[in-house]
Amino acid sequence: MINLINKLEKNHSLTIDEYEYLITNRNEESARLLAEKAIQVRKKIYGTDVYIRGLIEISNICKNNCYYCGIRASNNSCERYRLTAEQILSCCDEGYPLGFRTFVLQGGEDAYFSDEVVCSVVSEIKQKYPDCAVTLSLGERSYESYKKLYDAGADRYLLRHETADKEHYQKLHPQEMSFKNRMECLNNLKKIGFQTGCGFMVGSPYQTAATLAKDLKFIEQFKPEMCGIGPFVPHKSTCFASEKAGTVELTCYLLSIVRLISPSILLPSTTALGSIDPYGREKGILSGANVVMPNLSPFELRSKYELYNNKLSGGAESAANVAELKQRMESIGYKIVTLKGDFKKI
Ligand code: SAM
Repeated sequence: MINLINKLEKNHSLTIDEYEYLITNRNEESARLLAEKAIQVRKKIYGTDVYIRGLIEISNICKNNCYYCGIRASNNSCERYRLTAEQILSCCDEGYPLGFRTFVLQGGEDAYFSDEVVCSVVSEIKQKYPDCAVTLSLGERSYESYKKLYDAGADRYLLRHETADKEHYQKLHPQEMSFKNRMECLNNLKKIGFQTGCGFMVGSPYQTAATLAKDLKFIEQFKPEMCGIGPFVPHKSTCFASEKAGTVELTCYLLSIVRLISPSILLPSTTALGSIDPYGREKGILSGANVVMPNLSPFELRSKYELYNNKLSGGAESAANVAELKQRMESIGYKIVTLKGDFKKI
């Protein structure tokens, strides 16, 4: 085990079987060692800086029916909303003075957000806040569409691959969604020049150490600039309502491995991690994460973007309470910085 961890630290690469071994045979000692090395590596590149991103949930209207997701099209109990361009801009106006220099526009696959509408919002944000980055997370679109969004000024795009195992992918999604298209989208985003983010849920139904090993190999080979890894948490109105949630322990273990695979990756300590453990965010940072994404959406609409039950949106998860988040990060030896926080090429 120790040899494998040293090999990973040195080569930033293991075989799929070795990744699987690292997961299956994990114990407190391997977790401690991985976290220690992940923190060292992260400190060399990012010091103790923690980047903040203002998350604006622009629409919970979605044409898709991902089996795990609370805003899936066929969830009739979800009260739908979408933000206007003015509302999105005023979220940025609120976030800028709080120190946010990245705005993440995330939403379901809502046809209202055509290329024209998104491009116009992106260029308005970039005009008003030229020192800020705009990240989009609006699901699968065509190459041409992504290119237009990039040309309008969007800097980054998050599209979790969800799982790097085709059979597993089909167990999490209906027939009309395809693994092939998800991967094609990710390749297109990279080709166009976006700082691209992939990622997956930990503990999703049918996930195994073998599928996780494939996720790690995929990350090693795809070389994303960002990677979102958070626990799966069940939502009562989905097919997976009675499935078990992922654990903080395995999520943190994987965060450390991903940091060692890609030392300069932008790695969030996710909202889902904070939602299943009151110290989840801190535990993520102490495992090698270097980003947090507090919620900047209009307060009264936050509970409607319910991807899973008990999703946090208040307290230190709220952008308005960035002071609390600062304090919490300082208490573990890290500091929130007012920077765009781009991926550092090394
Ligand atoms: N529609 C866009 C897309 O597909 O990338 C962005 C929005 S989607 C709701 C954002 C992410 O939420 C998904 O990639 C998924 O990993 C995560 N998510 C959805 N349901 C979840 C659940 N029950 N538990 C944890 N994460 C969940």
